[in-house]
Amino acid sequence: MKIKKYFRGSGRVLAFVFVASILWLLFDMAALRLSISDVNSQLLKELVVKERELAKKLVTKGPKLADIDFKHPLEKVRVGFGDGKKPGERLEKKVVEVYRKKWEFNGKVEHEKDVQTQAVAKLQLKEESQMKEAIHLNGLKKENVLNNTNIRNKSIQKKQATETLRLSHTKTTPSVVQEQKLPQQLPQEPKKKQVQALPGIKMLSNATKDTSKAFKAQVQDNKSPANAGLPKKSNNTTLKALQKNKPAKQDAHQTATPTQHHPAKVIQRDETEKKVIDDEDHHQKNDSSVQILAVTSKGNKKSSQKLAHSAFKNPAKLQAPQEEPEKLLNISGVRRSGGVHKVMALDVTHKPRDVHAVGQFGHAAVVPLEKQEESKKRWSEGYFNVFLSEQIPVDRAIPDTRPPACSENLVHDDLPTTSVIFCFVDEVWSTLLRSVHSVLNRSPPHLLKEILLVDDFSTKDYLKEKLDVYMSQFPKVRIIRLKERQGLIRARLAGAAEAKGDVLTFLDSHVECNVGWLEPLLERVYQDRRKVACPVIEVISDKDMSYVLVDNFQRGIFKWPLVFGWSTLPEDYIKKNNMKDSDPIRCPVMAGGLFSIDKKYFYELGSYDPGLDVWGGENMEISFKIWMCGGEIEIIPCSRVGHIFRGENPYRFPKDRQKTVERNLARVAEVWLDEYKEVFYGYGYLHLLDKNVIDVGNLTEQIQLRKKLQCKSFKWYLDNVYPELEAPLVKAEGLVFNVGTRKCLALEKGSLIFETCDLSKQSQHFNYSWVKTLRQNTSCVSPQSTRTGVAMEPCDNTKAHQRWLHKANKILPEHLIGEVSFRGVSQRLCLEAGPKANSVFLKACESSNSFQKWQFTHYYAQ
Ligand code: UDP
Ligand code: MN
Repeated sequence: MKIKKYFRGSGRVLAFVFVASILWLLFDMAALRLSISDVNSQLLKELVVKERELAKKLVTKGPKLADIDFKHPLEKVRVGFGDGKKPGERLEKKVVEVYRKKWEFNGKVEHEKDVQTQAVAKLQLKEESQMKEAIHLNGLKKENVLNNTNIRNKSIQKKQATETLRLSHTKTTPSVVQEQKLPQQLPQEPKKKQVQALPGIKMLSNATKDTSKAFKAQVQDNKSPANAGLPKKSNNTTLKALQKNKPAKQDAHQTATPTQHHPAKVIQRDETEKKVIDDEDHHQKNDSSVQILAVTSKGNKKSSQKLAHSAFKNPAKLQAPQEEPEKLLNISGVRRSGGVHKVMALDVTHKPRDVHAVGQFGHAAVVPLEKQEESKKRWSEGYFNVFLSEQIPVDRAIPDTRPPACSENLVHDDLPTTSVIFCFVDEVWSTLLRSVHSVLNRSPPHLLKEILLVDDFSTKDYLKEKLDVYMSQFPKVRIIRLKERQGLIRARLAGAAEAKGDVLTFLDSHVECNVGWLEPLLERVYQDRRKVACPVIEVISDKDMSYVLVDNFQRGIFKWPLVFGWSTLPEDYIKKNNMKDSDPIRCPVMAGGLFSIDKKYFYELGSYDPGLDVWGGENMEISFKIWMCGGEIEIIPCSRVGHIFRGENPYRFPKDRQKTVERNLARVAEVWLDEYKEVFYGYGYLHLLDKNVIDVGNLTEQIQLRKKLQCKSFKWYLDNVYPELEAPLVKAEGLVFNVGTRKCLALEKGSLIFETCDLSKQSQHFNYSWVKTLRQNTSCVSPQSTRTGVAMEPCDNTKAHQRWLHKANKILPEHLIGEVSFRGVSQRLCLEAGPKANSVFLKACESSNSFQKWQFTHYYAQ
């Protein structure tokens, strides 16, 4: 009864609330337990959800074209695909896919306190073992060798294609370049001798006769330009033939071998290998690491497997090879062995110390509410979220964004070494460190000769002693201090002059090199020293520091007036050429900051033009120089490096920023563009022609260099490397028809007259040039200081009075508007045909006066 009382009236309500809260509590606890026991799946979920949010943000907040940062490849993903899908949708899917694939945990997570010391300790431990892994770890896979050979020998037929051009809006460009769809041709690969894939040849020495024949046929196939570049059925047959000749065990092992960077799968590999190797141990009990070294070069995989196995089991127990890697080098710096191995997926961060760290796994970081003010304030320290960057571990993990085929690719054991050169001026501490750590953590130590930090006379205190002290723990890092501000170009030259590696690898000082980034670059240089290899530049968000992959098949291009941008290869081109997402992409212009180049070749090319100041235009200069003087630029999709694209330069320009960049571009145009320099000037840079406005400096050495190297013409470059670019040499040409007189202008014995229009008469042919002159050969129609008179003068692009406006004015579109300086006053007047069609004069402009209206036979540009 007493109990019943409690269930009456308000008592009943209270009891109900009480029971409900208990139930709620129980549920909560269950949920908590669930989440504790399943940290990893939860984490994974979070990653995916966050990425979705990020992707959604990208969709909704897609930038206007004018907002696009300079050289920002991601924007291309966001602002335009020709596939009808919303760009964001596509992006979202991909990012999520990458995280799904790459960041499944095996449940074991390390928790350490001191981020930096830990990284160092790990690194030092790993340096030794990785070096050995580097040589032994990777199995051989013949089909990859052949695939590589195919790629290398790709020779692309000229093809009509459309390509969606996406241009970033340069910080300095006078005109915004609009998105266009152009009928285009894609480059024809110069038919040059390629290094045939050595790995294949090497393997053939061990292969059967049949295999050898098949391989020869393959090589032969690849030599034929008509077939090159397109993997053919016969190749597949060859592959199969080769595969047949592989030892069965090897096959089993290969298929069971997952990529090394995957923690979960590493265990799997360990077990798989154990089986295979234990089996082999019966036959090869006496294997030693020394033997392994020797046989690896002969392509014997059994031994390398053994080492791989023990390396996975216990890296610290690895025996040092009897010869140090340096001693394996011969005098010319080339390794003696000629074997190959699978691209290494070395990544000291593959099991991050703190999975919950801000920005871990390349994730978007969030500024807490109470820190937003601080974060805003600090933005200008680097023109990105400096506050967040500081929270993120200097050795954070990032997703392996390489196309899947990349981890299976083979590279040579005797790749050249590289000096990684970071130039910086007032770089933010955390990003500089992250850049350096990413190289140390994800590069095979035996290939990393050194890291050179070139301090371009930074003003920040933390970049002085503090940096020296920090870097002193890494024997491979050297700091070069410039005594005065030199600018990026001369700073790179200072770094190159100090470099001891065979290859120079330039990187910006706010990057994160991804897994397996280095070997694919060096491999291309190894195959042909005239190849200049660029990684795919991915985006580290300036706002939330997330690592965002960019779309495949992007290449660097330029639009007038030398504005760098990215464009996606058209889908039909990709299909026709059977291009895989891991194939190198010929690149008309490099972005500039990130590339590997053979050191000797860099100097043979005359390095950079040292007359270029501070920043800007150097990527154009080196790109034209490379292509026109016998080299090639490629984007290597298997090499990926994240970069923070910033809206503004966080450093000061000693002179005016705009003027500095313009001057650099003018130097490039004068040296490399031949007659096309007029196109450059015509797109908003006419003022640069006035020698009183800028002094481009002495160009003699650069011009001489071009002659000495016997570089090809810019026309050759356009025809062969970048035929998609619209580059008509004049804006308009042909007969100059006067609407009022219905006659054409003609040049007769140095004087201008009118004649009945006749296309066959050369005397009636004129050009309306990019620099706005109205010319026949080298004579230009010029207003005279008599105010109304017009006469022919020798053309001189620097003379402003020779310029005519045509199709430039909405009210007077067909008029030819000249500028006359009379008694110190300049005046705009219009070219008018005399009523009797006997001569031309300058008169006050009248929009409806048909004698002031002129039409050219052909117009090529407005
Ligand atoms: N840099 C330099 N000196 C300069 C300008 C730039 O050493 O006078 C460095 C800069 O710190 C960076 C690299 O050159 O590491 C490229 O510059 P930035 O990142 O500003 O170029 P962007 O990526 O915007 O093209
Ligand atoms: Mn940069």
